[in-house]
Amino acid sequence: MKVLLVEDSPVVLKVLRYLVSQNDLFIPILATCYEEAKASLIEYKDDFFAAIVDLNLPDAENGEIVDLILDRKIPCIVLTGNFDDELRLKLLNKGVVDYITKDSRYSFNHAMKVLDRLEKNKNIKVLVAEDSSTSRLFIKILLQQYQFQVVEAENGQEALAILEKDHTIKMLITDYNMPLVNGYDLVRMLRHNERFKCLVIIGLSAEGDSSLSAKFIKSGANDFLKKPFYHEEFHCRVNHNLEAQEMLQTIRDLANVDPLTKLFNRRYLFAEGESAYQKAIASGRLLSVIMLDIDYFKKVNDTYGHIVGDSLLESFSAYLKSAFPNEMISRFGGEEFCILLSTENEESAVSKVSKLFESLRVMQFTECDISITCSGGIACDMQTTLSQAIEIADERLYMAKNTGRDKLVSSD
Ligand code: GH3
Ligand code: MG
Ligand code: MG
Ligand code: MG
Repeated sequence: MKVLLVEDSPVVLKVLRYLVSQNDLFIPILATCYEEAKASLIEYKDDFFAAIVDLNLPDAENGEIVDLILDRKIPCIVLTGNFDDELRLKLLNKGVVDYITKDSRYSFNHAMKVLDRLEKNKNIKVLVAEDSSTSRLFIKILLQQYQFQVVEAENGQEALAILEKDHTIKMLITDYNMPLVNGYDLVRMLRHNERFKCLVIIGLSAEGDSSLSAKFIKSGANDFLKKPFYHEEFHCRVNHNLEAQEMLQTIRDLANVDPLTKLFNRRYLFAEGESAYQKAIASGRLLSVIMLDIDYFKKVNDTYGHIVGDSLLESFSAYLKSAFPNEMISRFGGEEFCILLSTENEESAVSKVSKLFESLRVMQFTECDISITCSGGIACDMQTTLSQAIEIADERLYMAKNTGRDKLVSSD
């Protein structure tokens, strides 16, 4: 993705080019004046992810460059030497993403952070629940300036229905006063559902009700904004809360996910898997437990080395994920995996795993084109606990190993 850098000072331009090119996703395109910037826009047919521009250019001293960029709907970050409140308002009202004073080297790092944020936001979906169409549109425009994908709801009930359906929504911005279900009840309902634990929620409300902010936060919102708010504050809060959530997610991943295979680890299996197993028992659903172990994996390490062994574990795990996209898969130990498979009946569980074994026989992994097979044990009869079911599947796995490997054992 191309990033247009417009700056007349060669030193600053060099620094910017260096910083932007640190991110492999970005290709810096340089311009030292207004006319050069215009020529670049024409040359690349306005195909720029963003622009970082100097407000005072030799051939455009009054910020004309900002209009040039914004007219083309390209996100614009402004660099300026001198700065005052009037200028700040003027720039923000025009719709620039951010303005940065060139007073220290940290300013440039800040510009890079904004760029990275914009890039991440492209994949982040935000739901705006607000009954006033004017206010909804205003928030939508602010979010789109920051490259978010925006989904809209006119009341709490509609918001709830959208969130139930679309699992990819990361953030909810909700008004308080709305018909059918108000913002406060909406937040309470969401926070009582485990599935929305990680949803970032920001409450909005009209001026005058000072108890509302606490009410929103107590019911589980991450933050609160009082209308009317200025877009700079809005962006700061949105970014701040998203970043906090992303940090939490990193910590969760470190605790739950195996770093090599990106599958869940054993700790997660015994904690979350057990509760999923108990839910299946309570609702009378079948949840089969499958233990898999790669055959003669030690030979792979001995023949090709540990690095290739690691890479095989990585691609094998990715293949497992693609074969069972909706199931909980964990790395139980070195080259041993556990899958919790939800099916209508036992036959269909056994048949799904048998298909996996068949496909493995014709596959090759890593750049060394290594063929592998697996042995497995499956426990379909529901037990009292997940641990008991794992034990049964594990015994069957060892039966498979002792009777020739490359097979699934489904009964004693
Ligand atoms: P079997 O068919 O009986 O399962 O034979 P095997 O060689 O697969 O099993 P064994 O348990 O004897 O050896 C497992 C090997 O897996 C030994 C160990 O070094 C290797 N291993 C475990 N974890 C990793 C890992 O993270 N990376 C690599 N490269 N190897 C690993
Ligand atoms: Mg200048
Ligand atoms: Mg093995
Ligand atoms: Mg093993």
